[in-house]
Amino acid sequence: MPETELEGFRNYVRDWFIRNAPPEMRIRRGGIGWYYEDPKFIDAAIKWHRTLYEAGLVGISWPKEYGGLGDDVRKELIVRDVALSLGIVYPGCPGIGLSVAGPAILYHGNEEQKKKYLKRILTCEDVWAQGFSEPCCASDLAAITTRAEDKGDYFIINGRKVWSSDFHLANYYLLLARTGSPEERHRGLTMFIVDTKSEGITYRPIKQINGRPGFSEVFLDNVKVPKENVVGKVGEGWRVAMTTLNFERLNIGGAFAYAVGSAARHLVEIKRDADTLALLEEALAIKELYDRMLMLALRGEIIGPETASIKLLASEALEKIYITAISKLGPEVLVEGDLFDWSFGYIDSKGYTLLSGTSEILRNLLGELVLGLPKGV
Ligand SMILES: Cc1cc2nc3c(=O)[nH]c(=O)nc-3n(C[C@H](O)[C@H](O)[C@H](O)COP(=O)(O)OP(=O)(O)OC[C@H]3O[C@@H](n4cnc5c(N)ncnc54)[C@H](O)[C@@H]3O)c2cc1C
Repeated sequence: MPETELEGFRNYVRDWFIRNAPPEMRIRRGGIGWYYEDPKFIDAAIKWHRTLYEAGLVGISWPKEYGGLGDDVRKELIVRDVALSLGIVYPGCPGIGLSVAGPAILYHGNEEQKKKYLKRILTCEDVWAQGFSEPCCASDLAAITTRAEDKGDYFIINGRKVWSSDFHLANYYLLLARTGSPEERHRGLTMFIVDTKSEGITYRPIKQINGRPGFSEVFLDNVKVPKENVVGKVGEGWRVAMTTLNFERLNIGGAFAYAVGSAARHLVEIKRDADTLALLEEALAIKELYDRMLMLALRGEIIGPETASIKLLASEALEKIYITAISKLGPEVLVEGDLFDWSFGYIDSKGYTLLSGTSEILRNLLGELVLGLPKGV
């Protein structure tokens, strides 16, 4: 598609957002991902998501047969860019459907799974959560102990997961479980789609430092999961998990990259000096890197461990911006008012350097798998 046509598309999308975005879908500046707590907001966000889908602004590059438009991936970039530059929520659906479960099913799912789940992810009829981390092991994912026993037509799953974001909103759970022996490590894992309403599943919301119960501990007690819900092959869950983590890091890194830009711009507006301008420069470079990486990934040219770099850089930059803001703006950030977003953002940003792989794990990964450095001991 010629550049002029893309520019026309950008103008059209900008105009569309300005005319159609309801006031409650305007993001507070500098903040990200904190709008899913209020039930009224969740309903409004899902409604907004469906409006976006009907307007052809979600799933632009997804295959037509699964509810997408099969169109140019660059248009997807443009829509996200315009929405975020205007401070508008995009997409509206909570959970990890669009960013993690969708790509996992697109890349590793069978035809029935693609037909059954993908369109409902695009329309937000289903909300998805991710069940990888366990109390014993999250950085060391290959050591997970949740067990899935093969019973012929179905599996019986027992175990305990933790830090499952948005589980309280989800009706599907992308769950990694052990089907082989512990000694097999990553070779003994399988990926499942689990209905969160299945008998034997209970959960306990975990209140975070910011006061919100954004994630849950999930208990699986003899949960029956049909065999058709295995994604990929039995024993190949690691491969599926790595695809999902690569996409997750790219998508989360992207959301962070935009948040870095908006937070840095906002900080420069209220405190313009050499430090804040340097942060803005860094933010612009991160956003450039993200755009290039996303383009390559969507074209299928890369979607490997290098996606960790964008999540690593953007999450650390965001934390740095909040720390700088707090030190420059002083105690006023602790008082409910115009500057309160900064202290709230600071508290929130602690988790950004942990989720989807901590900074240490991502540095190890980039060193070993991308740069080819010797494995750490
Ligand atoms: C906001 C948020 C949302 C999340 N959402 C989800 C979700 O939806 N689903 C899900 O499954 N999980 C989720 N997680 C969990 C997340 O993936 C884990 O917190 C993360 O992988 C770290 O695991 P851990 O907390 O057990 O820390 P640990 O693995 O115990 O690590 C503790 C510390 O040791 C360091 N460390 C560990 N191993 C090494 C090593 N080999 N080399 C160097 N340093 C090391 C780590 O970097 C860290 O600083 C979420 C976490 C957060 C904060």
